[in-house]
Amino acid sequence: MPAKKQELDSQQGYVSDTPSRSHLLANLDDKFSKDGIRQRKRALFRHSLAWTLSIWAAEVLRRLIEATLAAFLIAILSPFLLALLLLARLSGGGLREQTRLGRWATHFQQYEIHFPPSSFLSRLGFLRSLPALVNVFRGEMSFIGPRAASPAETFSGERMAWKRYNLRPGLLSLWWLRKRANIAYSTEVGLDLEYIETNSLWGDLGIAARAIPTAFFGGGASDAPPKLSFLGVNIDNLTMAEASARIISMAQSGVPSQVSFVNADCVNIAFNDSQYKQTLASSQLVLADGIGVRIAGAILNQHVRENINGTDMLPFLCDAAEQAGLSLYLLGGRPGIPEAAADWITQRYPDLRIAGCRHGYFSPEEEPSIFEAIKDSRADILLVAFGAPRQEKWIASHKTQLAAKVSIGVGGLLDFYSGRIPRAPVWIRELGMEWFYRFWQEPRRMWRRYFLGNAVFLYRLAEERLHARPSSPRAGGLTT
Ligand code: UDP
Repeated sequence: MPAKKQELDSQQGYVSDTPSRSHLLANLDDKFSKDGIRQRKRALFRHSLAWTLSIWAAEVLRRLIEATLAAFLIAILSPFLLALLLLARLSGGGLREQTRLGRWATHFQQYEIHFPPSSFLSRLGFLRSLPALVNVFRGEMSFIGPRAASPAETFSGERMAWKRYNLRPGLLSLWWLRKRANIAYSTEVGLDLEYIETNSLWGDLGIAARAIPTAFFGGGASDAPPKLSFLGVNIDNLTMAEASARIISMAQSGVPSQVSFVNADCVNIAFNDSQYKQTLASSQLVLADGIGVRIAGAILNQHVRENINGTDMLPFLCDAAEQAGLSLYLLGGRPGIPEAAADWITQRYPDLRIAGCRHGYFSPEEEPSIFEAIKDSRADILLVAFGAPRQEKWIASHKTQLAAKVSIGVGGLLDFYSGRIPRAPVWIRELGMEWFYRFWQEPRRMWRRYFLGNAVFLYRLAEERLHARPSSPRAGGLTT
């Protein structure tokens, strides 16, 4: 390099490249020489071997823990299992082997205790599956994993379904847990994939811990009535998919209609507020929101099919509205909140039209301009977030002026989707404790609603249970 250029380079902060280039060339020579290539191959082999061994060791450790735990549980539960078996034999049932698909979709026989359907013991649910501990001991099943499917079930219809067979089926599955908690909104395969993608030892321990209260208090409705009825409030007993499909078809029909969500607090309010009660009665769709309604269903022997709250419904509704080409108007919450929720929606559903946003703090004089804005926006679905019962009454008294095809009272939904208030993690919802999480966030505002309100709610339900007769219209499907 000419002296002049070298001087210029050093003035400008450049470092001469000659020594580093020769160093690099020497390195490359080493790397791609016969010896270098051999060394690199060996390193790669050692690395892959270490990985394979550590995965294998983790698998062996897991199997050892599972087999030991299964043997331990079989030993301590054996008197109980023998008693159950004896009862089953006496009532005409016994130990049954069912062909199931295991890991890699190989067949195995899963053990369970079978009671004839007429026997009240057939309601024992999870306890009947306890003999499958033997399958866990043998390594055909795990404690936690996707549900063991029968060969007749066609999971192959769904694209990623075969992934579920990469794991041993479990005595407990995420799907079972969510089903019992009434929040299994996605398909079984969807939940299996969620489990597979997030699978970890801590995750499994969490599922096992959550399964204990869920096994005792969880639902799982088979013979659910189409309408629930308690404390004078009627509720449509639908699944999430059915409810969002109904809302879409209402919006497509063009007739102005109202959708209301009802939780324990709403039932309490309706008990003392006849106008609100009347508003719920005249809503075209009333949906069962939260653990309180499920408990009411259990007390009054009316199975609630799914927990349908606005917050969980929003993604389903957005998806369906996007596909149907329907638009959404967001009304309510503090200034800036509906806009932030709209951002959340447009990021995930880019083809869904947000017809407009407006915060919920306005004077009666401003109302006409709000009706005008909603009308001009030609919104199909209007979400009104003022909190219950104000939002329901407001929708009912302005349904015609609102000009939206479906108006839905959604409470604090916009606060959650704007990020202003964090939503309870899913494991808390699985335990049916979202109400406690809400109390924890705003104890001063919520203590009365949840602690006092829940006690009053349970007291009134107990009263209804005691006084209702099977023929009473308020008792719905109650059998005493
Ligand atoms: N809100 C409103 N205007 C008002 C009073 C309240 O828009 O004049 C909003 C408030 O910002 C909150 C929602 O209404 O976003 C009420 O939420 P809350 O959690 O109390 O409703 P819930 O789901 O319990 O019915």
